[in-house]
Amino acid sequence: MDLGLTDKTVIVTGASSGIGLAAARQLLGEGAKVALCARGAERLAAVAEDLAAEFGAERILAQPVDVLNEAAVNGFAEAVAARFGGAVALINNAGQGRVSTFADTDDQAWRDELELKYFSQIRPIRAFQAMLAASGQGAIAATNSLLAYQPEPHMVCTSSARAGVQSLLKSLSVELAPKIRVNSILVGLVDSNQWQRRFEARDDQSQSRDDWYAALAAKKKIPLGRLGKPEEAARALVFLASPAASYITGAQIEISGGVSRYI
Ligand code: NDP
Repeated sequence: MDLGLTDKTVIVTGASSGIGLAAARQLLGEGAKVALCARGAERLAAVAEDLAAEFGAERILAQPVDVLNEAAVNGFAEAVAARFGGAVALINNAGQGRVSTFADTDDQAWRDELELKYFSQIRPIRAFQAMLAASGQGAIAATNSLLAYQPEPHMVCTSSARAGVQSLLKSLSVELAPKIRVNSILVGLVDSNQWQRRFEARDDQSQSRDDWYAALAAKKKIPLGRLGKPEEAARALVFLASPAASYITGAQIEISGGVSRYI
């Protein structure tokens, strides 16, 4: 299938590791130009260098940006316009989850989590909306979590924020139509830096990586028996962002190995 991304520009937030990096790599493999951002400048530069070696520097723009910083996001949009002259798609992927119950989530933690989940969508969408609309093929593909539909008490504020974001995206799929399609993926458990950090902080430090991940998949009762790989989530994001998904908007694709229990 031709995704129709050759020479098109796509922005990927949170692209210095995990799902975002896998999406950037796949987009470049499809012949797209890619604008990547993340907060950590050093890791982003290293990733951009690797990608440039593989795909050529002329199709890559990497800029350190915190997606919660309005001025930085606007500056990134200006840089994309100056370098590539516009963009067809925005992949809103930056972020991380917060593990906490209601009892141990204070007001500031709630505010921080709500700000991260909402404004990591709102700020890039505001900044890139005009150029996406002008492209004639505008698309937004957002990384969201299965927690939006299947909340977990040990991730209470993340789950709640995820549900709100899904509502926001659904509203936007109507408000921004027909010029911009808006879709999302619902991630279950994908092996990325987030899980690596939790593995490193494991209670039993003698447990091997393979054993820890296998125990996690069993504990979570994942029917496919393992965590997902970043590229497995990225493929769905890239498809939704591409002109190949031209009649899909307001939709979500679940990437969870079958772990959801709702129909
Ligand atoms: P990673 O930690 O591997 O990647 C997260 C990326 O986002 C990094 O590039 C990070 O770089 C960047 N980032 C984080 N915060 C910001 C910010 N404020 N501004 C710009 N960039 C930022 O994790 P994943 O690949 O797993 O995560 C991708 C998305 O998927 C996240 O939104 C996450 O919440 C979501 N998700 C992941 C799940 C999983 O099981 N892996 C489950 C459900 C959802 P830096 O820190 O340098 O900014």
